[in-house]
Amino acid sequence: MHVEQILLSKMETFAYVVGDEKTRTCALIDPAFDTDRILSAAAQSGYKVTHIINTHGHSDHCAGNDAVKSATGARLMIHSADAEKLGKLLHSTFSRMLGGKGSPAADVLLEDGDTIQIGETTLGVLHTPGHTPGSICLYSPGHVFTGDTLFVQAVGRSDLPGGSGPQLIASIHRKIYCLPGDTVVWPGHHYGPTPSSTVRIERDTNPFTQMA
Ligand SMILES: [Zn+2]
Ligand SMILES: [Zn+2]
Repeated sequence: MHVEQILLSKMETFAYVVGDEKTRTCALIDPAFDTDRILSAAAQSGYKVTHIINTHGHSDHCAGNDAVKSATGARLMIHSADAEKLGKLLHSTFSRMLGGKGSPAADVLLEDGDTIQIGETTLGVLHTPGHTPGSICLYSPGHVFTGDTLFVQAVGRSDLPGGSGPQLIASIHRKIYCLPGDTVVWPGHHYGPTPSSTVRIERDTNPFTQMA
């Protein structure tokens, strides 16, 4: 699997190009800003964009949906519990402040355990509520994309509408920390000392998820 991590120019958001090497098709995860730069990165690596996946419905992950979908016709996917947030982006002051232009409605609503087929590569949907009710992580052997659920040495906020601290910590333990230790953790923001980590390192040392 081809993984390209792209640090965007606002909010320290990470977007990802996740490509299937055989069919040269790819998904873009959270292409929120700098959409021209993300699209050229995919094109330069030789990948055609077939999927847009939002890890959750906040505008710092979804504000580029319209631009990317218009440019590629790719299918837009988000968990069902965050889907209605997409329609509200246009009306959010925060979104407009970030230059967001709203989002088209999702083409596919995701649920826990669903699989997304990118060419011959499969991404599994892990529903990890806590940051938002419809937050998801995406797993393929060797890689997990954790959105705003788990950061390197930190976790997502749980004080926003629909958030829950206990639910967030439970999601991390039940859905992420049970993955193989050498799985690379690809977070939704560059908030930690390194841009990526592993399940083992976070399970052993993340100060926000240690059991008392
Ligand atoms: Zn968020
Ligand atoms: Zn975020």
